[in-house]
Amino acid sequence: MEWVDLRSDTVTRPTPAMRAAMVAADVGDDVYGEDPTVNALQARLAADLGFEAGLFVPTGTQSNLLALMSHCERGDEYLVGADAHTYKFEGGGAAVLGSIQPQPMAHDADGTLPLDKLAAAIKPIDPHFARTRLLALENTWHGRVLPLGYLRAARDFARERGLGFHLDGARLFNAAVASGVPAREIAALFDSLSVCLSKGLGAPVGSVLLGSAALIDKARRWRKVAGGGWRQAGMLAAAGMYALNHHVARLAEDHARAVSLAEQLGQIAGVRLLGQYTNMVFIDVPADRLRDLDTHLRAAGVRISIGYLPTLRLVTHLDVDDAGVARTVEAFHAFFAGG
Ligand SMILES: *Cc1c(COP(=O)(O)O)cnc(C)c1O
Repeated sequence: MEWVDLRSDTVTRPTPAMRAAMVAADVGDDVYGEDPTVNALQARLAADLGFEAGLFVPTGTQSNLLALMSHCERGDEYLVGADAHTYKFEGGGAAVLGSIQPQPMAHDADGTLPLDKLAAAIKPIDPHFARTRLLALENTWHGRVLPLGYLRAARDFARERGLGFHLDGARLFNAAVASGVPAREIAALFDSLSVCLSKGLGAPVGSVLLGSAALIDKARRWRKVAGGGWRQAGMLAAAGMYALNHHVARLAEDHARAVSLAEQLGQIAGVRLLGQYTNMVFIDVPADRLRDLDTHLRAAGVRISIGYLPTLRLVTHLDVDDAGVARTVEAFHAFFAGG
């Protein structure tokens, strides 16, 4: 029996057609800038999203790190959500490897960072303080699509204050598909943008950092320093290209399955539905039943991640079909019916 794996949308495996595209990829040495498939992927995303240049990297964590290190220098700081990936889930890399200090900010419930609080957090130019250089947002944030009006206001704010403006758009295409706002329109607001190909888009590996030619030049240097200068990476870029061609519009199916999962789980006594946003469903169950629930679900062939967030998060993706949703709902039913 195949697992129904709802822990994350990172767990997708390449489809047979994606694997065929990988095998057929034309490759060269990317450190020399000679991998035609990597170059095509970078150029394609830069053109689609309206940036001068792109850089293909192994992970979203590295992509964000390179962006922070390209915007900021030693002793600078970036404003970032306290529950943002670029602050909380990247091992403190900006501080550890970039000598860049984060200024974490509390999120509003919709994932936005209130502009008045950001304004108050900007440090005066004075030797006592780190230099506030960058505002980093995340969209989607824990599944939530940040409102376009907020993004525009935040862009104006960053401009007025002389801050760079970075988007961790790991799931940018989920935001675009869910809201109907073209990805390019969201992207146009930012100086730099990181997009993951290995989440719901279904590529096995890879993210792309986008920005001006000057910013991407810096990022390419930091990528080499970070050990991310890779060679015949075109086989991986081919998977990313395949994903862009075939797996963007279908994100709507993941969102629809998340809606269905949320509706059905919400009807089970014992499950408290906290919310559903794009491809994510958040629920609570009695804490003393968590372990047993996990064991029960695994026996039924369903995996969820326990203990990594304060609430349970179930994520739909390319490898979760209608039968997978049905199996999950049945397993929850059986567990809570059994008392
Ligand atoms: C997954 C993710 C990343 C990057 O993660 P990697 O595992 O390093 O590829 C960055 N930001 C957000 C919001 C993510 O969900």
